[in-house]
Amino acid sequence: MSGTAVPPAVAESAAGAGTPAATGTAASPARLWQQVCALDDIVPESGVAALIDGRQVAIFRVRDAVYAIGNHDPASDANVLARGIVGDIGGEIVVASPIYKQHFSLVSGRCLEQPELSVPTYPSRVHEGQVWIGGDAPALAPTQALAPTPAPTPTPTQAHRPPTGARRLVVIGNGMAAMRTVEELLELAPAAYEITVFGAEPQGSYNRILLSSLLAGDKRLEDVVTHPLEWYARRGIRLHTSDPVVEIDRAHRCVRSRSGVEAAYDRLLIATGSHANVLQVPGNTLEGVITFRALEDVDAMLAAAHSHRHAVVIGGGLLGLEAANGLLQRNMAVTVVHASGHLMERQVDATASELLRRELERRGLKFVMPAKTAGMRGEGRVSAVTLADGRELPADLVVMAIGVRPNIELAQAAGLRCDRGILVDDTLSSFDPAVYAVGECVQHRGTTFGLVAPLWEQARVCANHLAGRGTRGYRSRPLSTQLKVSGVDVFAAGNHAEGPGAESLVLRDPRRGVYKRLVIENDRIRGAVLYGDVRDGNWYADLIKEGRDIRALRDRLLFGAAP
Ligand SMILES: Cc1cc2nc3c(=O)[nH]c(=O)nc-3n(C[C@H](O)[C@H](O)[C@H](O)COP(=O)(O)OP(=O)(O)OC[C@H]3O[C@@H](n4cnc5c(N)ncnc54)[C@H](O)[C@@H]3O)c2cc1C
Repeated sequence: MSGTAVPPAVAESAAGAGTPAATGTAASPARLWQQVCALDDIVPESGVAALIDGRQVAIFRVRDAVYAIGNHDPASDANVLARGIVGDIGGEIVVASPIYKQHFSLVSGRCLEQPELSVPTYPSRVHEGQVWIGGDAPALAPTQALAPTPAPTPTPTQAHRPPTGARRLVVIGNGMAAMRTVEELLELAPAAYEITVFGAEPQGSYNRILLSSLLAGDKRLEDVVTHPLEWYARRGIRLHTSDPVVEIDRAHRCVRSRSGVEAAYDRLLIATGSHANVLQVPGNTLEGVITFRALEDVDAMLAAAHSHRHAVVIGGGLLGLEAANGLLQRNMAVTVVHASGHLMERQVDATASELLRRELERRGLKFVMPAKTAGMRGEGRVSAVTLADGRELPADLVVMAIGVRPNIELAQAAGLRCDRGILVDDTLSSFDPAVYAVGECVQHRGTTFGLVAPLWEQARVCANHLAGRGTRGYRSRPLSTQLKVSGVDVFAAGNHAEGPGAESLVLRDPRRGVYKRLVIENDRIRGAVLYGDVRDGNWYADLIKEGRDIRALRDRLLFGAAP
């Protein structure tokens, strides 16, 4: 683009309105003007990008005036401002960055949310229907040149900016999704943030999945803890344990913890997981009535197994059966009360469920099903579970394993849009672009989560956006699950429900105790249930995820992947 030192006779002024007339001459080369395009080339109330002397400039047409600012968005480190949405905030004409949504004044270049991120402005003119931009950098230190709106008094958030220049990431929750996101972020952009983590639990992060194995005595505590306290210290991460966040102040971009710690953030990551559901029946607060979610629950079960005999587990799903098996391994007499007539009815079909029940009974578990729990009885500590049909089961320990619900109260109180979970888009961003959320607390395209596989992918995508890459989008995929009871092999993937257009391929080998059922629809596997031999589970899960046409494999499908 070629420039002229002689500015056009000014017919209209825009960004320059009220500013000194831009009358550059050949003697002042600092004032070169560039003719960019016709005013009509720019759609009203929108922007275009132009390369002027090697600089990216975003030019906006607003009510037939033009404004020019740098196209580079310092918040996302991308040349995107020309694509932002133009609007008016409190009388100030602004553009919202399409990535992190900070607002930049088109007159002063000031970033409304973070003044330190302000962008340059450039003089602009419309002359005989043509857009002209003045082009020299020093002359275009526009925030000063144009007598900008005074910056607001810094909030506590802005006042405590780290000296390193890194931005501040605050993480609420120290669980599996949170720490995987932090790990992914450290890989992508190790110095991008100063990181502060708040955890409600007393220790570093641990692998919640392994709690069942810890209870059963198959794992030790050291195997379960994934992030000991030194892990945080070595990476300069500030960790607050046993100190849950009790308030998110979005206006000032800071959080407050139960102990009174305040932490300012540029980006907030919410990863508060789930609450275990509690049956709303009489006696549910008696001593010895617990759920199965955290390390302290395993401690409570082990203590009970030490001094008591009878355990009742309410819920015959994956978690309930793992708790029951663990307590059996700890020499308790265990009865499982299940509302449905089939164990793990959400994951496996009736045949696999029956095989599973027989095997677990053979090992010593008792089942009462279908049965409804009416309440718990006891003096101080629980002594019995009462059923709706009047039966009573002796119980010194009651473990409720009846599902989870996203932990969203904190987000709701902060005004973030929630449904069953915190609503997030494909970038794991909430309705507030400074706030991300991952894990079991989120709801993405109508889905909430209860297994870790989708959380790993969420962590990858979220870290990518926190790192400013902006190149990944999250999509949920069909899931698979496996019961973690040693010697009992159960695997389920996808959707095994019968339905019009679906057919089942079944293999039964009673002698070996093997049962396999694949549900096929449109020449693709959409569900798999395996009992007794689960070696090909991951292969079936991959075929389901990929939606592969299985016509060529059909005759050997039930016998597994070729070695
Ligand atoms: C016994 C058991 C066995 C499981 N087995 C499997 C399995 O085999 N396969 C599988 O895929 N999944 C399994 N899961 C599920 C899996 O563990 C979860 O999907 C996963 O842990 C969810 O991760 P998350 O980070 O979202 O939540 P969590 O791991 O629960 O982490 C959330 C953390 O946030 C903390 N927190 C909450 N509120 C606050 C606050 N206000 N301030 C600070 N911290 C807060 C919580 O205390 C918690 O530590 C199992 C779960 C359990 C309990």
